[in-house]
Amino acid sequence: MKICRFNGGRLGLVRQDRVIDITPVLGLIPAQHYPLPQKDLLIEALPQLRAAMEAEAEKGVSHAFADVRFESPVANPGKIIGAPINYKAHVEESKADAGIGHGRTITSIGDWGMFLKAGSSLIGCSEEIVLRFPDRRNDHEVELGVVIGKQGNQIKAADAMSHVAGYCVTLDMTLRGPEFQCFRKSIDSYSVAGPWLVTADEVPNPDKLDLWLSVNGESRQKSNTSYLVYDIARLIEFTSAFYTLMPGDIIMSGTPEGVGPVKPGDLIEAGVESIGQFSIRVAAHYA
Ligand code: MN
Repeated sequence: MKICRFNGGRLGLVRQDRVIDITPVLGLIPAQHYPLPQKDLLIEALPQLRAAMEAEAEKGVSHAFADVRFESPVANPGKIIGAPINYKAHVEESKADAGIGHGRTITSIGDWGMFLKAGSSLIGCSEEIVLRFPDRRNDHEVELGVVIGKQGNQIKAADAMSHVAGYCVTLDMTLRGPEFQCFRKSIDSYSVAGPWLVTADEVPNPDKLDLWLSVNGESRQKSNTSYLVYDIARLIEFTSAFYTLMPGDIIMSGTPEGVGPVKPGDLIEAGVESIGQFSIRVAAHYA
């Protein structure tokens, strides 16, 4: 199942090249009252809503992609979690290019741990990435996004995949520089998720997916998730050894080699095999 959010909070089911409006299903999410829990209520309820989604799709209005503005498939992730230096060839380029490492000693994801990106940095692929700091390097990083579906703490790798709701294509946009990742990578619009969520049952092996990114038609990144240092199950185990994962949490699983700068006006195209692809514009002006 491919689920999207579009055109101002509407819910859609993606079939072939159409988006079918199934917004009435949102009314079936169990009511919650203040204070709202730190999780995404739609993602949590997905297993119970699937039948209703299919039924609604039989009567819903369908739209061509051209008429749809895709928003982040997860509206309210409690956490956006990043995986640093998680492809071997990206570790090597980070050591070789002082513009990436900024004097930090590049060790390993096991040493560095994960990092958090602010929820306020999240946008969908029909929005624009608005760069800041014209005198500094702003890089693209394409990554497989993993959306958690079931709460868990100290999850074992063997059990990890049962906690996954699905996958999306993500961009972990990055301001290079001396600050910690949580600061540099949390700028407004520097987390992109899209175009939709593909439920986990449709992705039997997330550890063997091609992923790619181009800028203005020029190929920049091209790899496969089989080159991840920590695969998806290990990432879930590692992350949940430190904090509870909640429905809607997004893990950006790391970027392969080929990261590089973008500038205002650029067009980024990014995709992951079996998940989808999108093109997103870098805004014409700096914030
Ligand atoms: Mn990254």
